[in-house]
Amino acid sequence: MAYKHKVSHEWERAATLRELRAGRLAQDDVCDADFLLRAAATHHGVDSKRACPICGSVLRNTRWVYGEVLGRRAGSARSEKEIAEFVAEGLEFTVHTVEVCRSCRWNHLLTSEVAFRKC
Ligand SMILES: [Zn+2]
Repeated sequence: MAYKHKVSHEWERAATLRELRAGRLAQDDVCDADFLLRAAATHHGVDSKRACPICGSVLRNTRWVYGEVLGRRAGSARSEKEIAEFVAEGLEFTVHTVEVCRSCRWNHLLTSEVAFRKC
C-alpha cells in the first residue's frame, strides 16, 4: 500500500493559531471537537509527537477515510491496519489525518492523501 497526492494543511493550522493569538478568533471557534471526533480519537487515534498548541495535552492523530468506493465505510475513522485492508481490496480512496485534543477540544486537519495499491 502507498499514498499519493499528499496535501499538507500545516499552513492553515499555523494561520489559525496566529488568528487565535491575535484575538481574531475565539478559542471556542477552534476548540470545537464534538463527541464523535473525541471518541474516534480515543478508539482509533494514535498519540502525536506534538503537544496541543492550546493547552499542552497529548494530541491524538486520527485517520478518516472518504470515497464512494468505500460504501458505508466512507466517512469513518480507521486504523492503519484497516486502511491497508481496504487497499488490499483494490480500493483507492482519500485519507484525512486529523489531530484532536481530548482536553480542550482543539482539532485540525493535518494532511489529506490518497491511499492506493502499489503494484
Ligand atoms: Zn488542548
